[in-house]
Order: sequence, then C-alpha cells, then structure tokens
Amino acid sequence: MTSLRFGKILGISLELHSTFLLMMVLIIIFLSVFDPQNLLPTLMILVFLFVSVFIHELFHSIVAVTKGIKVSKITLLPIGGLSMTSEMPQKALDEFLIAIAGPAFNFIVVIAIIFIAGIFPSSWPGHIISNPDISPEELNNALFAYPLFGLFWVNLMLGAFNLFVPALPLDGGRVLRAILSTRLGFSKATKIATGISKIIAAILFLVGFFIGNLFLPIIAVFVFLGASQENEIVFIREVFNGLTAKDALNRRPQKLKPDATVGKAFAKMTEKKQPVFLLDSTNPLFVSVEMLERVKKDERNFVKAHEIAQPVPAVNAALQLEKTLAAMLSKNTPVLAVKEKEKIIGFIFEQDIQQLLRIKKAEKQLA
Ligand code: ZN
Repeated sequence: MTSLRFGKILGISLELHSTFLLMMVLIIIFLSVFDPQNLLPTLMILVFLFVSVFIHELFHSIVAVTKGIKVSKITLLPIGGLSMTSEMPQKALDEFLIAIAGPAFNFIVVIAIIFIAGIFPSSWPGHIISNPDISPEELNNALFAYPLFGLFWVNLMLGAFNLFVPALPLDGGRVLRAILSTRLGFSKATKIATGISKIIAAILFLVGFFIGNLFLPIIAVFVFLGASQENEIVFIREVFNGLTAKDALNRRPQKLKPDATVGKAFAKMTEKKQPVFLLDSTNPLFVSVEMLERVKKDERNFVKAHEIAQPVPAVNAALQLEKTLAAMLSKNTPVLAVKEKEKIIGFIFEQDIQQLLRIKKAEKQLA
C-alpha cells in the first residue's frame, strides 16, 4: 500500500497512508448519502483528530531526534499515527521521555482549552456536560456545536488512551516497559510487557465485540501484532549484542561483470540462488533481482547490468550489528559496504544477517 507525502518537517517526511485516504472518502460518501446534516461537523472532528495525531507523533519524534535517534517519516493510518525510527532507544529513560512526549502534547492542549473556556464561557457547553446523566447523543451534539469542546475531547481521548492503556506498542506500554527495564533489564521487561499487552488486546477485542464497537477489535489486532513485533526486535538485539558490522562480513562475495546483460544476470542469480550481486567495478555497485525485473522483457538482452546498477552505501566496521541492520532498512538496500580506515574490507548482505538470525533462533530453541 502506498502513502501520499504532503510535507517535511525537520527532515521527517509526513505521509497519509492510502487506507487513511480511503477511509476519509468512505466516511464522506456515507454521510453525504445517509446523514448530510452531520457531514460538516464530523469532518471538523476528523480534522481535529488528524492534526492532533500528527502533532502527537511529531512530539515523540522531536524528543527521539534530541536523543540521537533518526526519524525518517510519520505516517497517518486509520487507527492512528506511526513514526518510523531508525532504531529503538537504548536507555530506559530515553524510551520513557519519548513515550510521554506525545500524550504530553495532548494534555497541554486539554489544559490550555480549560483556561480558554474559563475566559470565554460562551464557547464552552458547561451547562450540557456538567449534567452527570448526559447521553451519548447529547455529548455528540455538544462536540459538534462547540468546536473548542470538540478539540478538547479529541485530545483528552488521544492522550488518555495512548498513555493509560499499558500495552505495547502504545505509549502506555512503552512507559511500562521503561519502568520495568530499570529493574529487570530490557529483554525481561519486554517479555512481561508483551505478555500484558496480549492480555489487554484480548480484553479490548471482547469489549469491542460485546458493546458493538468496531474500532476496538481493530486496535486489539494492532496491539497484538505490534507486541509480537517488539518481542522479535528484542530477540534481534539479544542475538546481536556485542557484535559489529565486521562480524557479519562476507569477505569474498561473488561478482558479476558490469557489461553482463540483464538476461545473463538473471541466469546467474538463478544458478547461484543469490538475489543480489555486486558488480566487478572500482566503485561498489550492485544489482538486485527486483532491479532486473523492472527492465522490460524485450530489452533484457541489450541492457547491461552497470546501466541499472546502484551504488552500495557504506557503514563503519565498528558499527553495532543491530544498527547496521537498521541502516540497511532505512537506506532500503540489500547490501552494505563495510569500511575500516576509509578502506572497504568487505560487504554485508541482507540474506547473511537473516541467516545468522535463523541460526541463532534455532540455537536458542535447542538450548
Ligand atoms: Zn504516541
């Protein structure tokens, strides 16, 4: 699924995911047909939500950047925002500060609005919401009729849900893990936090099912999958602990002649069962099976490998292996050149790292 990029702040690309756009279009069509009166107020609340989620994510990202973690993009999905970072924070305090920064923004807005409402009472539906027996419908009407209250409500819900549900990958789960890991260490803290997260996911799913709320089961699935992924990341960190780029070197990779045709390159990849090849050239270049596939079928006997090849990005030999893998993902490359004292001493292929992980996983299961 693709994303639509609409801006860039502090080197962070801001994107709307296609499923988010699809959801907006469906909501607009649905309301224009069945409930045209509520179209504009609903759109207003959605815009509040959309802007608040973005700034919430931006606050996470700004704190992450000050802690030396690169943030490549923020994507808005139908279930919320997602910040793509190059790595996880190493220190519990950093993770804690990054996690609370997002909800902190929402609560700042909430407090500011309470002050503004005190100064301009007519902008605030005090007489409606002070009623303890307020019905969901009355609350809805107040949200639509008083924009200030709408903005207040959106930020209150966003801040509270993210901070007070202690499930990974939500902010509350990160806070929980950060607190646990000061005593138990990162791996054990993650195992406990992911266990709790899965129980919460099950509860959210059932509650949503019984009260007829479609949104909660979707969030439950997101929490369940996200928590499993956190476990995987911790596993990688454990396995790679103490290893550097130099430890995963492939010192004698097979090379391809630069003037080999795309067709020949394909044949060699199939023969050697290797999806990425370096070119035999002075500057390191590579071709991958995906790059070959982009060449039209009738041109594959004329186009040469060096015409479609791309330069191999380089990393330092002393770089931690975990960060090397992160660099590979963020640079979106299947191979990295490893440099020591400005000289290339070898290469690391994505498949080497995957293989190393598989072996370590097997070792762990046997142990
Ligand atoms: Zn957050």
